[in-house]
Amino acid sequence: MNSRSLVLAALLSAAAAAWAQYPDKPVTIVVPFAAGGPTDKVARDLGEVLRKGLNNQPVIIENVGGAGGTLGAAKVAKAAPDGHTVLLHHIGMATAPALYRKLPYNVLEDFEFVGMVNEVPMTLVGRSTLPANNFAELRTWINSNKGKVNLANAGLGAASHLCGLLFQQSLAVEMTTVPYKGTGPAMTDLLGGQVDIMCDQTTNTTQQIEGGKVKAFAVTTPKRLSTPALAKLPTLDESGLKGFNVTIWHALYAPKGTPKAVTDKLNAALKGALKDAEFIKRQEALGAVVVSDNRVNGADHKKFVEAEIAKWGPAIKAAGQYAD
Ligand code: ASP
Repeated sequence: MNSRSLVLAALLSAAAAAWAQYPDKPVTIVVPFAAGGPTDKVARDLGEVLRKGLNNQPVIIENVGGAGGTLGAAKVAKAAPDGHTVLLHHIGMATAPALYRKLPYNVLEDFEFVGMVNEVPMTLVGRSTLPANNFAELRTWINSNKGKVNLANAGLGAASHLCGLLFQQSLAVEMTTVPYKGTGPAMTDLLGGQVDIMCDQTTNTTQQIEGGKVKAFAVTTPKRLSTPALAKLPTLDESGLKGFNVTIWHALYAPKGTPKAVTDKLNAALKGALKDAEFIKRQEALGAVVVSDNRVNGADHKKFVEAEIAKWGPAIKAAGQYAD
């Protein structure tokens, strides 16, 4: 071996040794929505168990809300690819490319896909003072208040935006959308009666529905849910919006170029978390289902995201909604 090869070999083995110690400082999960919302809740619950597989390093949650989740995703796309900054995002990874003319990242090229966490249904909820008590009454109220209904969402590209868009299309009614940095603050305003209705993940709505703080009208999945607080809710499909089907998923991503040793460790920590009885129980109580199929692997999750982009892109483009 010549001296150049020796130096290279030494550098490579030093790099491998460095990654073997990963993580040697706290890991930050960027949540691209405000604190207190469903993505934030999943991240905080996940962070607690994830650390067990990450040398017990603290897992810090950083909320970077705004622009439907694209600001937080852009931040992670540009972060150092060392596994100390990762992204917990949702279906917005697949819908943003169709919504933004100038998305500051390429979903399929600028991230390492670590794996999927859970699937979460959405619920259609309204302020407690709405005169409607079921979906049929809500529909009548919406039709007689055309142009006046305020629909909260977390910005263009958010799950609540996608669901609200499909809802307006299905009813052929346009509503005034009120964007927030996440559905955490949107829920605060719904509770306060400043907005009328919202679609949101069950991870954010179940407790409010249980406590009678919001009115719940339907679930967005093709089948009714088994979670006790939600089991009575009809599906939008059976309520007359045939074929309505929106299920949200959450997943972990690292910046492109993060070494495989690091993404492998993150993936192993994720798999450990998804088998954690307490985490599974907490998710189930909020209507979420922890992933138990091969989408927990980065490569399989990436194929799933490609299919989701192909599925949602045409529907979103047909709705003619764009942002720069
Ligand atoms: N549920 C939100 C959404 O509409 C995001 C959040 O606040 O977690 O995408």
